[in-house]
Amino acid sequence: MARIGVFVCHCGENISATVDCKSVAESTAEIPGVVHSVEYKYMCSAPGQLLIQEAIAEHKLDGVVVSACSPRMHEPTFRNACSRANLNPYMVEMANIREHCSWVHEKGEATTQKAADIVRTMVEKVKKNKPLEPIRVPITKTALVIGGGVAGIQAALDIANGGHQVVMVEREPSIGGHMSQLSETFPTLDCSQCILTPRMVEVYQHPNIRLITYAEVIGLDGFVGNFVAKIKKKARSVDEDVCTGCGACWNKCPQKKIPNEFERGLGKRTAIYIPFPQAVPNKPVIDKNNCTYYKTGKCKICEKVCLPGAIRFDQPDEIIEIPVGSVTICTGFDVKKTDFFPEYGYGKYKDVLDGIQFERLASASGPTLGEIRRPSDGQIPKKIVFIKCAGSRDPAKGIEYCSKICCMYTAKHAMLYKHKVHDGTPIVFYMDIRAGGKNYEEFVRRAQVEDEVQYIRGRVSKVIEKNGKLLVYGADTLLGGKPVLIEADMVVLATAGVSNEGAEELAQTLHVSYDQHKFFAEAHPKLKPVETNTAGIYLAGACQTTKDIPDSVSAASGTAAKVLGMFAQKEITREPIIAVVNRISPPAFSTCVGCFMCQPVCPYNAIEKEEIKTRDGKVLKELARVNPGLCQGCGTCVALCRSKSIDLQGFTDQQVYSEVFAMLNDI
Ligand code: SF4
Ligand code: SF4
Ligand code: SF4
Ligand code: SF4
Repeated sequence: MARIGVFVCHCGENISATVDCKSVAESTAEIPGVVHSVEYKYMCSAPGQLLIQEAIAEHKLDGVVVSACSPRMHEPTFRNACSRANLNPYMVEMANIREHCSWVHEKGEATTQKAADIVRTMVEKVKKNKPLEPIRVPITKTALVIGGGVAGIQAALDIANGGHQVVMVEREPSIGGHMSQLSETFPTLDCSQCILTPRMVEVYQHPNIRLITYAEVIGLDGFVGNFVAKIKKKARSVDEDVCTGCGACWNKCPQKKIPNEFERGLGKRTAIYIPFPQAVPNKPVIDKNNCTYYKTGKCKICEKVCLPGAIRFDQPDEIIEIPVGSVTICTGFDVKKTDFFPEYGYGKYKDVLDGIQFERLASASGPTLGEIRRPSDGQIPKKIVFIKCAGSRDPAKGIEYCSKICCMYTAKHAMLYKHKVHDGTPIVFYMDIRAGGKNYEEFVRRAQVEDEVQYIRGRVSKVIEKNGKLLVYGADTLLGGKPVLIEADMVVLATAGVSNEGAEELAQTLHVSYDQHKFFAEAHPKLKPVETNTAGIYLAGACQTTKDIPDSVSAASGTAAKVLGMFAQKEITREPIIAVVNRISPPAFSTCVGCFMCQPVCPYNAIEKEEIKTRDGKVLKELARVNPGLCQGCGTCVALCRSKSIDLQGFTDQQVYSEVFAMLNDI
């Protein structure tokens, strides 16, 4: 006969305000098999856990039900407490009377009765529990970092400096991300390239980092500590090991008028190119869509001028498989582009720019060498209107969130403009000013007071071009919505930050969740902000939501701490909540009929074939077997097996039926 202990928690007043905990403990004590039933204010506190431990010893309990909050919150807490009292941790169940009862019902008898019913179901379940042992698997101590922006760089360097191997995969021909496009950074106004470039070089030269650029992760198999990443390395048409980065090829390439993506269309590049002068690695790539040779079969000038002989027109794409123990996603963000802002004339008028284009104009390495000049005629603009929240906080555009970084970079843009064009007039249209970071408010104030940036609270309804000027129609809401018309030479839109192209596809490849805006989803916004719901896969930087540099770098170091913590262990301990194919002896009589319908439905490829042989080695039968290292306990195979040969440990048919019968009072 089972000896069950039940511990009803008040959760302060979270539960006791609506549920009569004393009554629940008393009614539960009547259930056959329950030998001890008590209530307490905070079961998860140190005295609460001690109370459980002492009761296990005193009443010789072989099963425990903690009637409290969600198991997501405190199941590990109570399992550990029971372990300390020498009770197998899988003989503990939590009855969730908080989220499932007290938080969703009014105070009253019915609420207390529902709580008692929930506890009763878990008591019946725990009677059917069996002691389980955690699964231990070895760890591949190599980390995969996807994305080589500032977050990826920080994560890779932290892990590599911790003594472990890192594989960094970057989609573009160079690492650096958006930060390498910036001129100066807020709130310190230090040069972005000056602080980033040395770190890019450090990544390239680090003995523990293998950098794979112009490549994408196209598959990920395995599980925490034991993933295998499939990487597609696109052909550069250049042998990176032979190329010296001398530049002869791109200086001689006759295709010189291709819009430069790094300059966001404001500059031109050749068909063989490096994205920007400080690119890492400093090796070119041939843009096959614009190369004369790939299009017509003629040219090959780059091959002729390349003295080391690095050009490889026949270089194929390469598929590389690398075992890794962890994955850190740092794929960053993008800004809204195309014709998202017809009312502002973006894409129609040359002098209506987005924030990154303005960064390139302000950058000393940009197309105008740092001079702010109009793309239309090369003149210095004497008046620039900056429009904040261009797309953000606008449900009509499908982006109801605040992009968080625009208030600050707009203040920075206006300041940079004023520093470069002393007689220029910067005007900022804003809805609100959100400057919540360290020294951010002071920075905005400096723009307003010292640099005399004019701020107008209100929205801009439209921008039209007339006689070489941009007419900005807006309203000043601090003057009761008074219409405002400004004749500007340039308009800069603080465009909404959005998820990067391909983020949804990558999330599906990696089996991690993403939100409605296709940003990657963290496991818990407060308690697990850098973890995903897939163990061993972490998030850093703006792939989660738009973030500024300090936040991206902090999150990256957070993920590195998680990875280093995992790699510090000898092996991974995993929950034994996995599927098992029932075995009877002799196996030839097993109920598994070897139909293997379970195999294709398993999303983790965990179902294997096992041959049952006769003594003389003849294959008698094939049976299904679950690889405990791969199984994630999703239960799909259990539902599918027609001969009921698979069970999920911890959630066996018997356990689930006993819960259901208890709920129906059929016990
Ligand atoms: Fe590299 Fe040859 Fe081009 Fe020089 S000419 S950058 S060695 S590919
Ligand atoms: Fe440029 Fe292509 Fe000619 Fe090489 S072959 S020089 S990349 S156009
Ligand atoms: Fe078929 Fe079930 Fe055996 Fe899988 S476990 S092979 S579904 S009988
Ligand atoms: Fe695969 Fe079944 Fe495990 Fe799910 S429970 S991962 S379907 S073996």
